[in-house]
Amino acid sequence: MRVLVGGGSGFVGRELTRLLRDKGHEVTVISRQPGPGKITWSELESNGLPPCEGAVNLAGENLMNPLRWWNESYKKDLFSSRIDTTKALSQAIAASPSPPHSWVLVSGVACYKPSLTAQYTEDSEWTPFDLLSKLVREWEAAAQLPEDTAKSTRQVVIRPGAVLGRDGGAMKQMMLPFWLGLGGTLGSGRQPFPWIHVSDLAGIIAHSLEPAADAPRPSPQVLNGVAPALNTNYEFTKELGRILRRPTIFPVPGFVMNTLMGSERAVVLTQGQKVIPKRTLESGFQFKYPDLTSALTQIVGS
Ligand code: NDP
Repeated sequence: MRVLVGGGSGFVGRELTRLLRDKGHEVTVISRQPGPGKITWSELESNGLPPCEGAVNLAGENLMNPLRWWNESYKKDLFSSRIDTTKALSQAIAASPSPPHSWVLVSGVACYKPSLTAQYTEDSEWTPFDLLSKLVREWEAAAQLPEDTAKSTRQVVIRPGAVLGRDGGAMKQMMLPFWLGLGGTLGSGRQPFPWIHVSDLAGIIAHSLEPAADAPRPSPQVLNGVAPALNTNYEFTKELGRILRRPTIFPVPGFVMNTLMGSERAVVLTQGQKVIPKRTLESGFQFKYPDLTSALTQIVGS
């Protein structure tokens, strides 16, 4: 299968590319920069969709970019980098004389309202309640294909929690303070911490790209990209400290996180949602890292 991966040069994209190539598939990355095995977003817009059987979008300005202050220009980039690239791909798919059989968008769990008690599956109803949930609504809407294309292309939206892996995402920024014995819970620590190992997220994307036995449907199939273990920030912190054999006695109060990161962004760490991968499990996907111990042991040992 030939697969086009928007943002395929990033943390999740590199893992996905490795997995797809190992399975014998051909990958072309869509990037802002030209290079071998890549096309640029402007080439996609001017030349149309290259021949492919699967398409994925992973592009987006990093929400946890430590080098950027939380201001209007950053927020604008978070929106446009996701929505414009997703629209460019869905429009190219719709305009293609031979559209791919699968189109996968990776969005996020920020659509579910943080709560200490509520549990969310893919069937949970939601309406935007803050900046990030508004982003998810617009992002997922940008992926929607017109009705006639949706008859031949299966649309899938995967909503991951924090993606854990050695080479990027939250772990890359957390490893050093934890190694130095400066790790601790964030906020109260009681908030849920939905997470997934990067290898499992790549696996769910690859699984979604496979041609399905059932006919494509007009609205996208949603899959929660989270490990089935429901953990809190406290459990995550203690387990990482235990595996690294380091103390985790320096909690970071919520107001410090809000000041450093901006409260609209800090919410992804200081609050959280209990997210259940109900349809992901029903689809037959088997997690390699279903619990924190197996995931963190692999990451720390790698
Ligand atoms: P990365 O931060 O690694 O970025 C992916 C790619 O996006 C980059 O390699 C880059 O490709 C492209 N990109 C970055 N900034 C911009 C920009 N301003 N405009 C256009 N393209 C840009 O992302 P991840 O791999 O960590 O995540 C993939 C997707 O999953 C993202 O959309 C993210 O929001 C979502 N997600 C990630 C989570 C995580 O914990 N990592 C959690 C939940 C959701 P290039 O330089 O080649 O153009």
